[in-house]
Amino acid sequence: MSAANATPPATPTKVGPTHTASVMGTYGRQNLVFERGEGSWLIATDGTRYLDFGSGVAVNALGHAHPKLVAALTEQAGKLWHTSNLYRVAGQERLAERLGAATFAERVFFCNSGAEACEGAIKIARRAHFVAGHTERVRIITFAGAFHGRTLTALAAAGNEKYLEGFGPPAEGFDQVSFHDADAAEACIGPETAAIMVEPIQGEGGVHVASPEFLRALRALCDRYGIYLILDEVQCGMGRTGKLFAHEWAGITPDIMAIAKGIGGGFPVGAILTTAAVAEGMTPGTHGSTFGGNPLAMAVAGTVLDIVLEPDFLDGVQQKALRLKQGLAELHDNYPTIVDEVRGQGLLAGLKVKVPVAEVVKEAIGEKLLLVGAADNTVRILPPLNVSEDEIADGVARLSRALDKLSKAANA
Ligand SMILES: *Cc1c(COP(=O)(O)O)cnc(C)c1O
Repeated sequence: MSAANATPPATPTKVGPTHTASVMGTYGRQNLVFERGEGSWLIATDGTRYLDFGSGVAVNALGHAHPKLVAALTEQAGKLWHTSNLYRVAGQERLAERLGAATFAERVFFCNSGAEACEGAIKIARRAHFVAGHTERVRIITFAGAFHGRTLTALAAAGNEKYLEGFGPPAEGFDQVSFHDADAAEACIGPETAAIMVEPIQGEGGVHVASPEFLRALRALCDRYGIYLILDEVQCGMGRTGKLFAHEWAGITPDIMAIAKGIGGGFPVGAILTTAAVAEGMTPGTHGSTFGGNPLAMAVAGTVLDIVLEPDFLDGVQQKALRLKQGLAELHDNYPTIVDEVRGQGLLAGLKVKVPVAEVVKEAIGEKLLLVGAADNTVRILPPLNVSEDEIADGVARLSRALDKLSKAANA
């Protein structure tokens, strides 16, 4: 039957009880449908309340339905949604200035996702060398276990075979070395190297925190060899570690930084932050996005930034992170047959487990606690940044019950 003759079914085909075939099957989804959210809680269609310690993969930085974000979005929605980047966008100008005041950045480009921010970061690094006359400098050094998104170039950058399989020749121009190996990175630097690209915390890769020494060594290499340091703070940025950006813990600044996820608090926004020097080559026509930085996105992202920059907010994140870390350390002590290691920084925590990670996620759902799997058999614990200390204790108790069941099942 040709596609042109195919009549869509009146009702979507059901495949098993859990999903419809009409949505492309690219995700292994849990059979849960949520209807509402309130702070750290998600309410399913059957009324069951789940404690959300996944935050939509570090996206709902301020939980669900935060009244100030709802107000910012609805107020903007009544005024103006989209004008395109053919015109000045007031929200972009304001947010870029405020991001600049809070970080190393002197130039900001707004896009819609993390992958786009990472792609743009790579383009900007190459372009900066190009306009400086170093047209040969196009290669980017990246690290094993990295994740930079699902576009073809971002996949090539991360070099994960599993994600590249079947999608044709990987994009050229990436050299990969082991995470935490600055010597290997240095050995890899050649006349064609443009930049080093690294996540201060590998989230998808299994919550591997780059040490401050490693980040400082990479910064020093970039300075010595005249190449750029690109940080991917898509997951670890925007307050998640208890600083506005994770690299602040190392006392360094990048030349280029990709951000997304938490910056929109659930509204799709990405951004590339750079120094003025790096952005010199980014003249009219060199890069663009139809939706990037539209007024709705800017209204919400501006409000997220307001809240995260409120006095004491980031100290509060550090305080709660300490509580979480203590709780997870107890779980490590109590369930040594299940928990291998506690990792992470701030409210980006990971438990490397000795059973399949999917079993931990499933058992936690049984306790009405939402977590996120990651590579390296690690489960991620990513509560909203405005989670309460009581909710942290509640989440740890739920996780403890889930691990208890798994440990009894393992001993049975
Ligand atoms: C999620 C993520 C991305 C990709 O972001 P998308 O919005 O899914 O494109 C890139 N880098 C890191 C570190 C991420 O965690």
